[in-house]
Amino acid sequence: MIYIDIDNTIAASDEYLKSLNSRALENTHLLFKTLYKYQDKVFLNSPPMVNIEDILNLKEPYTLLTALPNRKSIDSFCKDSQETDKTLRTFHDNKVAWVKKYFGDTCKLIIVDKKASKADFCKLPTDILIDDSLSSGKEWQKAGGVFYSSFANYLSNLPEKLLGKTNVQLEVAEDNNLQEGKVDLW
Ligand SMILES: [Mg+2]
Repeated sequence: MIYIDIDNTIAASDEYLKSLNSRALENTHLLFKTLYKYQDKVFLNSPPMVNIEDILNLKEPYTLLTALPNRKSIDSFCKDSQETDKTLRTFHDNKVAWVKKYFGDTCKLIIVDKKASKADFCKLPTDILIDDSLSSGKEWQKAGGVFYSSFANYLSNLPEKLLGKTNVQLEVAEDNNLQEGKVDLW
């Protein structure tokens, strides 16, 4: 199975957040403040950053695998746990609506609470994760699966993969906040 992350892998979430608040990605506090303030928009309106047709045309089965924002971080902006629940529900429903908009009603979608739990879905050495988060990628590789840090990397490796080469090196994103040693805001 191919598992594909949504935010900043196939949806330009960071770019959209920056359009709502130019300082949104400066630190975790501003990121979650922006997510909270624009909760009705954030996961609904991010534009695709890949050609969705390329995913729809994949020969192998795929599942979109996305995580909700960290509950504790959202909690600090909410007046009580009920509001936190409601906010997380809004995020959840907007992610579902985004997927329906671009992939239709039959697309497989899994929404998990935390990124760390993505690796639980890795059951076979042929299971693939495509995700911009290097921490998720490392967990996935630790669980024995194959990791690509972008959909473009996955596509460019398709011929080798079809020839049976599955020994893929961890790829390091160069131009975002996911380098080694840096805080993964998401
Ligand atoms: Mg992501």
